[in-house]
Amino acid sequence: MLEIRQLQAFYGPAQALFGVDLQLQAGQLLVLQGLNGAGKSTLLKAVMGLEVSSHGQLLLGGPGPASAQDISGWPTHRRASAGLGYVAEDRRLFGELTVLENLQVAGGRGSASRLDWVLERFGLLKPMLKRPAALMSGGEQQMLALARTLMTRPRLLLLDEPCEGISPVLVQAMVQVLLDLRREGLGLLVAEQNRELAQAADQVLELVAGTVRGRRSGAAPT
Ligand code: ATP
Repeated sequence: MLEIRQLQAFYGPAQALFGVDLQLQAGQLLVLQGLNGAGKSTLLKAVMGLEVSSHGQLLLGGPGPASAQDISGWPTHRRASAGLGYVAEDRRLFGELTVLENLQVAGGRGSASRLDWVLERFGLLKPMLKRPAALMSGGEQQMLALARTLMTRPRLLLLDEPCEGISPVLVQAMVQVLLDLRREGLGLLVAEQNRELAQAADQVLELVAGTVRGRRSGAAPT
């Protein structure tokens, strides 16, 4: 569903990615690992068309049998319409809006039925629909950020450290949600140091200083 060929990324004159290749199929989880500054966030931003300038091919397969398209020249909103959903490390929620409002503003057309779909998968959010997002714990906010992105019906999720800085119980819940989404056929490209997620991944890529240093594949889906 996504093939990245020779991706290079730049912040002004500073190069952050040096020719990254990867392939991700629908219903697969790929975990990106690497130390701080290795380029994990940059890779996700380059795929989404945010903040960095990049070179290389980004081939996105359609939902049907249509052949893949190179989205590398597309603006971010067009990539989102084509099925990419991105959750940034800092979550970017509307703190003064309630949980429900945060979900509704993302929803657009057909959002009532989608809201049911999302809340079925995020039972934890149901009792707090009227709470302002700013009054949730970090982990609950992370769940809401993911739930909000799912309101846009993405086929491929790009997640930046979804388990970082959240309580162990919520890490478990987050891992479970991600594995459920994989089972439902979404592609997941996740920058994450959490071991449990890496153990369940179909592929793990290790980035070192903007290049792929290690690749491992083959964990059985759970
Ligand atoms: P972290 O876990 O700390 O987020 P990361 O693996 O996601 O690390 P990136 O944030 O992608 O790493 O950073 C890759 C490189 O790009 C680093 O050298 C970083 O200093 C640089 N960089 C990141 N954001 C910017 C920016 N906005 N302007 C200039 N350089 C940046």
